[in-house]
Amino acid sequence: MSKTLFDKIWDAHVVKSVEGGQDVLYIDRHFIHEVTSPQAFDGLRQRNIPVFRTKNTVATADHNVPTLNQHLPINDPLGRFQVEKLTENCNEFGVDLYGLGHRWQGIVHVIGPELGITQPGMTIVCGDSHTSTHGAFGTIAFGIGTSQVEQVLASQCLLLKRPKRMRITVDGELAGGVVSKDIILYIISKLSAAGGTGYFVEYAGSAIRSLSMEARMTICNMSIEMGARGGLIAPDDTTFEYVRGREFAPQGADFEAAVAKWRTLFSDPDAVFDKEYHYKAEDIAPMVTYGTNPGMGIPVTASVPTAPAEGDSVASFEKSLGYMGFTPGEQILGKKISHVFIGSCTNSRIEDLRLAAKFVQGKQKAPHVSAMIVPGSKQVEAQAKAEGLDKIFTAAGFEFREPGCSACLGMNEDKVPAGEYCVSTSNRNFEGRQGPGARTILASPLTAVAAAVAGEIVDVRNN
Ligand code: SF4
Repeated sequence: MSKTLFDKIWDAHVVKSVEGGQDVLYIDRHFIHEVTSPQAFDGLRQRNIPVFRTKNTVATADHNVPTLNQHLPINDPLGRFQVEKLTENCNEFGVDLYGLGHRWQGIVHVIGPELGITQPGMTIVCGDSHTSTHGAFGTIAFGIGTSQVEQVLASQCLLLKRPKRMRITVDGELAGGVVSKDIILYIISKLSAAGGTGYFVEYAGSAIRSLSMEARMTICNMSIEMGARGGLIAPDDTTFEYVRGREFAPQGADFEAAVAKWRTLFSDPDAVFDKEYHYKAEDIAPMVTYGTNPGMGIPVTASVPTAPAEGDSVASFEKSLGYMGFTPGEQILGKKISHVFIGSCTNSRIEDLRLAAKFVQGKQKAPHVSAMIVPGSKQVEAQAKAEGLDKIFTAAGFEFREPGCSACLGMNEDKVPAGEYCVSTSNRNFEGRQGPGARTILASPLTAVAAAVAGEIVDVRNN
């Protein structure tokens, strides 16, 4: 029988189907970090249960870490407590931790793929919504809640209802200045922040196939921002070459055997999806958001809409524009901005930094803009330094920081002041996401870096 890629992976991981339509699903890899794991470890401790498969569990510290002076004690008491607790828990339960000071530390969704822990065909979970990132390798990867973190630590399984399947096909060639972040912001603007609710999305089409692994991760990362459970892309030679030789990837003959298996991971030609959408790459322009959910996106040359999108209420539309300080019909181009943040699990990989550095080389950031580059991991940081990218950024007036979630969310020292605009390469523009009152405009690394130089929102195609 024909199957979607999602169903092939799901079916291969069903331990048992239970009455009522749910499945007990085996989980291949479990990533944990300091924010959602403490209560889960407490739960295990109270019931005297060990971590069932320590070797399938990997921890890092990312949300609460400072991005300056990581060799010093963490200033913020809550952040320090969380990071110390993670270390204690990992030591007690025998879980590998790539914490502060470790050469593999970084944002959980950056280190998994770069270490080769993330491999095609796996089921992967983490107590973090953007676990969908790993779907770029042809995995079923999704975020879970704290009680589920405890369940996976205890049993390596989860009781789940199979979501519906959606396919989004993007064919054609992207124009210059348009990158993968623009593709996903465009898709979410079309489908809305709730358009994927109840579905697991497969991305397909020639425009998706032509993307690098870093760019595919950007797309899958934001699946959750349209309400989907996750997103995935069928693995191909680009995927296999990315995985080859990485620390935890199969090596030698084992790798070739794995690739032979991974080549069966695709949706059969006549597989049926519950919903399908088709888009043309040529229709996509550099995108920015104007509101307080990622579905409120427009081409950079467009004006702020004068009415809410379908499914959105007038009240929430007006509240959103009020928060952002935008008026209906206003042009986004030329809007003065004060901050630029290039980082997060959406856009902090070496390719993102190379793209930004290439644009900024020989230029200077606008004097009134504070601009921060935060690599996604120690490995990305080291690679960027080896290529001299840090020097390009600092010569242009940018700050080159140490790895962490940073200004993606106001949970550490890197916050945007109230009322100020930040062009951010992260994935959420919710009220207060980058700090109380902060105004976030989501964009690609290219649009962000161009805004830092101009001091305002510009069309990178003209810069
Ligand atoms: S970078 Fe942002 S979205 Fe990604 S894991 Fe960290 S806090 Fe979550």
